[in-house]
Amino acid sequence: MSAIKPGRNRDTPEAAARRMRHLFPPEEMDIARAWARKATRSHIHHEISHMSIVEWATMKRILPQGLTSMPGPWRWEVVPYLKEIAECLDPTSPIHEIYVMKGAQIGYTVGVLENWIGYSIDQDPGPMMFISADADVAEESVELRVDRMIESAGIRNKVFSQSRQGSGKKTGDTKRKKEFPGGFLIAVGPNSGSKLRSFSIQKLAEDEMDAWPQQVGSADGAGKRAAEGDPHSLARRRLDAFEAVSKTLGGSTPLIRSTSRIEPLFNDGDQRRYFVPCKACGAMQYLRWAQVKYKTDDSGRLIWDSVHYECEACGAEWRNEDKAYFLPRGEWRPTAQAMKPNYRSYHIPSLLSPIGMRSWHSICQEWIDAHDDPNRLRVFTNTVLGETWQERGEAPRWERIMLRREGWSPEVFHFDGQGNPIDYTPPILPEGALLLTLGADVQKDRIECEVVAWGAGRESWSLGYHVLMGETLDLDSPAWRAFSQILAADHGGMSISLALIDSHYQTQTVYGFCENYDTGVLPCMGESHYSKTLKVFQLREVSGRMIRRADIYTDILKIEIYTSLGKGKPDAGPLPRGYCHFPEERGEDYFRMLTAEERIPEKMHNGQTRYIFKKPEGRRNEALDCRVYSLAALYMLAWDVAPVDEDSGAVDWDVFWVACGAPSKGERPAEQG
Ligand SMILES: [Zn+2]
Repeated sequence: MSAIKPGRNRDTPEAAARRMRHLFPPEEMDIARAWARKATRSHIHHEISHMSIVEWATMKRILPQGLTSMPGPWRWEVVPYLKEIAECLDPTSPIHEIYVMKGAQIGYTVGVLENWIGYSIDQDPGPMMFISADADVAEESVELRVDRMIESAGIRNKVFSQSRQGSGKKTGDTKRKKEFPGGFLIAVGPNSGSKLRSFSIQKLAEDEMDAWPQQVGSADGAGKRAAEGDPHSLARRRLDAFEAVSKTLGGSTPLIRSTSRIEPLFNDGDQRRYFVPCKACGAMQYLRWAQVKYKTDDSGRLIWDSVHYECEACGAEWRNEDKAYFLPRGEWRPTAQAMKPNYRSYHIPSLLSPIGMRSWHSICQEWIDAHDDPNRLRVFTNTVLGETWQERGEAPRWERIMLRREGWSPEVFHFDGQGNPIDYTPPILPEGALLLTLGADVQKDRIECEVVAWGAGRESWSLGYHVLMGETLDLDSPAWRAFSQILAADHGGMSISLALIDSHYQTQTVYGFCENYDTGVLPCMGESHYSKTLKVFQLREVSGRMIRRADIYTDILKIEIYTSLGKGKPDAGPLPRGYCHFPEERGEDYFRMLTAEERIPEKMHNGQTRYIFKKPEGRRNEALDCRVYSLAALYMLAWDVAPVDEDSGAVDWDVFWVACGAPSKGERPAEQG
């Protein structure tokens, strides 16, 4: 039973309207009044008194130790910018759709999503659906977060936990479903097309929307997957029966501009930004990254005390501690006209993260670390600024890269028709080379592979590019025999640390080949996938095999490779980070293959445009694929050796390079930006 005493917080229409005047602009007031009348009628009808979400969280939420950086009773003062968003979710609010584009560590999950779910179970029940990145993530969120919220808010007694007779299985209280008087919460993935079609809901909570697939499919009679549509639209259709009282809350860290869901949803709304006052001049402004200032010392390290925010009106310096002053004095202001009524959108960058969570110092540090690494800059843009990443990476001109060839000795193998070695000239390892990786692309009639030497700052040398002719289905064929020789060679005194072989074409043969090696040789499969973190691969068990396969995110790696290839050699001074060296012997064909793919705009069904890497008809691209696998192998080695930040997936590359034998960062020449 509710702990609320009858009569407390009873909302008369006048009181509700008065309260709403603060919340809603005049043009929304009529709707607000109508709502207040209706809500109050329905409340009297049900003989329950109204308690708002904001009041509920203050009274009931206790954040447990260990799950948050700020355990204890919930306090809106810590994250005052979340209050208005929660108010939109109140049954008395006329707002139907709320979309939040956000950075990390701003308290949204606990302060908005969990509070809404808890309030719905306890005070405002109705059928509710929660969709996260995928079904596993959704269920895990219920298991880890929602269950603890239910426990700590003392509302477990509201959730049915009946056992099915005989089976002993709980039915109303699982990680997929919570049933409570007057409603339920169901957790699904955006891929669950059937669930997105099967029942009516009143409340829809959508999380991590930018990680959703563009389309969901369903198996038709012939077992073929047919495109069924956009999961957001499918889910929204479930609200039809509750149209007048429905609520949709969509939130996401934005990812790639061309495929982002949250950005267009944000743009359709009134694009609210959190305006805060300057302590010195009082000017209201929303925090922008351009106004964050810092200095570095001679060796490029952040000078901690220099970090500040510069008031855009008077130039006064705000410190991180000043958040305690300006956050509670802030307010949401619309910066655009919403395209639809009763529709709000909010932007929350991590610059707003309260004291005790993400500081401006650590944000500046992340920015300095990201330097000119496109993958890190992407994650910074997404998770700190809460903005989409604009894809770049047009193919660099092959002629320019060819002009930069250098006079060092690569390796040369000669094999006879049976794949036996005739002749081998080892490479002369360039100064700075610390380890070798190999990437191989398997075609029907040949294997192509590249041996790459890597140095600190991901500087690379293409030690050898080999084309091994012969059919590839049979492991005993000349192509595979020659390939084993290359894997086993000494490469001028260094062996290959990790080789990745594309298993897309001859899957079982490649698996069989890799099973012959205990370590260091793995099958791989390319995926065009973006994630919220810096991780560019996923290791997967291969059923029925003794090996694991690396699924690698090729688009991210191709962007990095194209960025690196686009960097020229400076007239003087240190080389830019990621500089790629090629030997004089390398021919035009190779450079054409390496730069073969283009970023092609593709029109999506929803009218958005996304860019995909595409190989023009008739052009070969094996050299690019091999380089992608080699770079993925380097990432996997770094992940294995160096500390990795769990949240961002960032590897401490400096520790990695020192472990590989490089001088420590202070002692080696600085890389150029
Ligand atoms: Zn000022």
